[in-house]
Amino acid sequence: MKIPNKLKVGVKEFEVRMVDHLDSRAESQGVCSTDHLFIEIDNRLPQVQKEITFLHEIIHACSDFIGLQDDERLDEESICSRYDDILYTVLKENNLLN
Ligand SMILES: [Zn+2]
Repeated sequence: MKIPNKLKVGVKEFEVRMVDHLDSRAESQGVCSTDHLFIEIDNRLPQVQKEITFLHEIIHACSDFIGLQDDERLDEESICSRYDDILYTVLKENNLLN
């Protein structure tokens, strides 16, 4: 999977950055800020781990889009059903399917 410089999720466009040192508060390999519209990925990771982290951050951006955090009572099927359209749209609109 290629990692683009920008990622469109619905009306929001995220800047995607590879960074040498992630914010020390982040105990992870990536960050998705839905307020400041950026995704950061640890540049020191092996390529496959960068791509998995990028996908992880896409899911965070989609969670914001579908308002998942507003309703924690959803069952697995409902959650997957809410993700399928937006995930497909994001991958398609950002030319990440081919
Ligand atoms: Zn996460």
